[in-house]
Amino acid sequence: MAMPKQVNVTQPRARKPVVSIGRSMSKAILPLKAAPPKRDPNVRNPPSASHRILLSCPAKMTATKHDRNAWFKGGIANCQVTLAPGARAYRMVLLGAPGVGKGTQAELISERLGPCQLSTGDVFRAAKTLDPSERTPALTAALDFMKRGELVPDETVIGIVRERPNCLRCPGGFLLDGFPRTAHQAEALDAMLKDLSMKLDAVLSYDLPIDQIVSRLSGRRTCGGCKAVYHVTTKPPKVADVCDACGGKLIVREDDRPEAIRVRMEAYEKSTAPLANYYRKRGLLVSIAAEGSPEDIYKRTAAALTARP
Ligand code: AMP
Repeated sequence: MAMPKQVNVTQPRARKPVVSIGRSMSKAILPLKAAPPKRDPNVRNPPSASHRILLSCPAKMTATKHDRNAWFKGGIANCQVTLAPGARAYRMVLLGAPGVGKGTQAELISERLGPCQLSTGDVFRAAKTLDPSERTPALTAALDFMKRGELVPDETVIGIVRERPNCLRCPGGFLLDGFPRTAHQAEALDAMLKDLSMKLDAVLSYDLPIDQIVSRLSGRRTCGGCKAVYHVTTKPPKVADVCDACGGKLIVREDDRPEAIRVRMEAYEKSTAPLANYYRKRGLLVSIAAEGSPEDIYKRTAAALTARP
């Protein structure tokens, strides 16, 4: 099994921080307010504050959040990681129905094996916090699809991933969480990776009976601040409705409401479930039972990865 990595991180490049959608839309749509950090010319590749935390404490969640934050910002994401000797960079896709625990596994895999977690759903959720005047029509429409539990149109989502090649190029690897979700997105990902002369190492497919999925989704609570995820029975916060990590208020995601859950499950069955076959035919599919605790599921995941050539 690979060793944890993250030993050297370069500063983000001093570019205008923007998030945009799709090549077809030439104007940048989400100007971000934060100015790029000033670089000390006397210091070579200083690690950012949150990565300094990571260097001293690899299990700290903050560092994973920081990587994901770079993913949100798209254009300025330039998280370069040097692998520890003997470690390998995993480039993987996570598949599985909503609520199967992909996000939790993504965090564990990211902390322990190093690939950056790249969640398209998180990009949309981050965009939701912007003032409506800062969103393009495509993004506003995307958020409406999301609210109803429907899939966002392919071109919008593909555009988001395509505009973040630095995240796909990360020497530490990547973990695509929630993308691809349709055959068209899978083909687009193949083309993007071909352009970057890269290949996927594995597609992890998490399987769980439907009744357990519904129970997980309806009990899920998410921190409105740092996005940490809890569950009312299996992972409750110390104080009801308050985030242990940042003190933020815990909320039910709009798409975790019962009516949206039904729509999401239908969308999954119709569009995403067939992707398992797509990747099975390419010899990439690794099926993992998603029952038990996150740690049990992680152990199965790690064992399955170790067993692969
Ligand atoms: P997730 O957090 O991955 O469950 O995504 C939340 C919501 O964002 C989904 O229910 C969709 O509305 C939207 N979304 C995220 N990723 C995609 C994708 N690859 N294709 C279409 N819609 C997506």
